[in-house]
Amino acid sequence: MTQKIYEDDSYLYEFTATVVSCREVSSGLFDIELDRTAFFPEGGGQYADKGTINGLDVITVSEKDDVILHRVCEPIPAGTAVSGIVDREMRFLRMQNHTGEHLVSGIIHSEFGYNNVGFNFDDKKVTLIVDGPLTDEQITDIENKANEAVFRNAAVTAYYPDAETLASLDYRSKLENIQNVRIVNIEGYDTCACCAPHLKGTAEIGLIKIIGRASDRGGTRLLIVCGRLALEDYQNKHKAVRDIMAALAVKEEETAAAVKKMSADLLEERKRNSDLLCRMAAMQLRTPERSAGGILYAFTDGAGCNELITCLNDMTVESGVTCLLLSGNDEKGYFFVMSNKDASLRQDWDKISSAVKINGGGDDHFRQGKCRSTKEEILSALNKTDWYGRKKQSIRRNIRTTGFQKRPVSESKTTFFQKQQRSHNQKQHSFKNNRDLRNVRSQTASISNLFPDLRGNLHKP
Ligand SMILES: [Zn+2]
Repeated sequence: MTQKIYEDDSYLYEFTATVVSCREVSSGLFDIELDRTAFFPEGGGQYADKGTINGLDVITVSEKDDVILHRVCEPIPAGTAVSGIVDREMRFLRMQNHTGEHLVSGIIHSEFGYNNVGFNFDDKKVTLIVDGPLTDEQITDIENKANEAVFRNAAVTAYYPDAETLASLDYRSKLENIQNVRIVNIEGYDTCACCAPHLKGTAEIGLIKIIGRASDRGGTRLLIVCGRLALEDYQNKHKAVRDIMAALAVKEEETAAAVKKMSADLLEERKRNSDLLCRMAAMQLRTPERSAGGILYAFTDGAGCNELITCLNDMTVESGVTCLLLSGNDEKGYFFVMSNKDASLRQDWDKISSAVKINGGGDDHFRQGKCRSTKEEILSALNKTDWYGRKKQSIRRNIRTTGFQKRPVSESKTTFFQKQQRSHNQKQHSFKNNRDLRNVRSQTASISNLFPDLRGNLHKP
């Protein structure tokens, strides 16, 4: 059984001990057992301490049957007196966040009766899961109470009560019929079973900030930062606000409204831009060429698939003719839409896709996507004369087309292309919404803590 120095003094970072055993667990890796140690082993959702033993880096620390093993890359013979150094900065940061988690869990338990059903600290943030729902207002209230406890510097103590005391004690993480339960108490706020190192008083936790909330199987998952991590978080967000202020030339208190307005203006501008692109493309596509294989085709630049589909809607194409509209340039590639309302375009598609670099989806009558070949390569593919055989002659004999004609399209054609466009627009709309949301979130999530009125929408992990 290893004597756990960190249970009695969590601020003792340097210690001496004697090696009890040394075992090679794999090539070049050894587990060292000491008679006493200040290294906290991995467990309970928290990583093991880092540091050195006789100058050797401690890779991991684990515990089994009250024996703590320190993994190093060189053997240290049993009986050797060693000195250990625990990474002070990392230990303190972990104690700040671990003790802060106790405080938040204890307040949630006393206020709402919820239990802590999940905890993890990855050295960047605490993830805490409680088994009940919490609103944004309730979370703000919890955060305020937790920081009040910090200001009061409530004492934190740890002890092993006797069996009788333990049985009568009301504490979180109640363990039944277990010997040697270590109780950690934050005076006036929390009593919980825990084996990890903690701070002596809540003032050392520093600022406690809940930076994220999400529903989790009927409960709530909270993301929390304490102490130095909270300071870093504030510094990063302050820098983000300053950057937004400089970019938009607004005062600090105006940044949230300015970002909202910019986002709305951007959406409006995109719509206007899309309309202009559509009109420009329609003008450029008004006089399509016909390929040797009978395909009607036209090129433009600056329009996306959405605009091309709108142009397609305005076209009148003779029955059975495949129509191919492309927009782009050799450098960026070409968006395309390809359609044939009355006949399958599969043969035309197979021929073209075998000759150029083209990716697209759709069905027998409509396809859209992107082509990475040059205009010259596309034209060469379209006008390859030996592709079609009888089909080509048939098309030439039976089909005449004058391309775009300013005459009303039939109801069936209108319905057909509108259906294709609706399907496409739904996908585009969903994509744009997601992209806009991501952009807006990334721009404003970092300032959401400073603007409570944003929290409802943006304060999510
Ligand atoms: Zn603890």
